[in-house]
Amino acid sequence: MDCGTARILIEALHDGELDVAGTAALRVHLANCCFCAVREDSVRRLKEFCRERRPQDRCPEELKRRLATRLAAAEARQKKSRWRFTLLS
Ligand SMILES: [Zn+2]
Repeated sequence: MDCGTARILIEALHDGELDVAGTAALRVHLANCCFCAVREDSVRRLKEFCRERRPQDRCPEELKRRLATRLAAAEARQKKSRWRFTLLS
């Protein structure tokens, strides 16, 4: 494997897109090429940094209020239909 191919595969490895055979071939190259090993370490650190800094998905307050209102209304309808069923039986 040459360094140009390794450079492409390093990105694929850290994006979870590299198969077992490709990963093994890349690992052999990294063990024998300090330039690519340094590049792989940099890419790995950058990916970890980005993953740690990624904003959490948050539910906006307005959406929470609307969902709570709909849930309460659905529960009230369910209780009401249970009472109606009890009275009719
Ligand atoms: Zn290399």
